[in-house]
Amino acid sequence: MGCYAVKLEISRSIGKFVFDRRAIALLVFASILVAGHAWLRAHPENNPWAPLDLRDPPGWATQSKLAAIGSDTEACRAVLERSEVQFDVLASQGSGACARPDRTILSESLLQPGNPAMTCPAAIGLHLWLEKSLQPAAMQKFGQEIASIQHLGVYNCRRLYGRSEGAWSEHATGNAVDIAGFTLSDGTTISVLSDWDDGGAKGEFLSRVRDDACAMFGTVLSPDYNAAHRDHFHLDQAERAWGVCR
Ligand SMILES: [Zn+2]
Repeated sequence: MGCYAVKLEISRSIGKFVFDRRAIALLVFASILVAGHAWLRAHPENNPWAPLDLRDPPGWATQSKLAAIGSDTEACRAVLERSEVQFDVLASQGSGACARPDRTILSESLLQPGNPAMTCPAAIGLHLWLEKSLQPAAMQKFGQEIASIQHLGVYNCRRLYGRSEGAWSEHATGNAVDIAGFTLSDGTTISVLSDWDDGGAKGEFLSRVRDDACAMFGTVLSPDYNAAHRDHFHLDQAERAWGVCR
């Protein structure tokens, strides 16, 4: 009889212990969920379900959200509006391979000459590049803001490398921009052609902003890629499974 009572006591203790362990595990799990939820609320850039806001710092989920816009012009313009980025919309233009149903102009793109219209995804890339890369890098390296960005063109109804056949360039729909250099607020110029390999601050600035652009554009081609790009960065928003960054 005594032996039975001891056994019962032991099995009760084990039962209680198992129950406690479960309760603790449940509590730990619940606190992780609550903490995780609070953390994602504070870091929407890392939350794949939070709507994209270009004012947020770049995070783990930023690139997939940018890619998800694809060529959905309405969704893209909604992102600009939500992010309080000023822009204008021009009427569609062109036809066939060079049709431009989406002509968006960023009010403060700093692009010169003119302020060319481009697709909304390209405009988003440019805005992000300016705010999250070019301006902070210029402040850090030179203590100056970027006053203007020199471009070599956005829209050009042509095939790749101007060939008579083959794939059309992203420039044919205004989904690309070629960047030749930058002017700082004190008038200092930084040129892809002259300063890419200068071994100094300008060259460092150029390779840093080239690298940064790879998280914001589908394609980035620089002087590292080939001689055709010795004097400019080609940036486009071609829809690809993997970005091109060279
Ligand atoms: Zn180009």
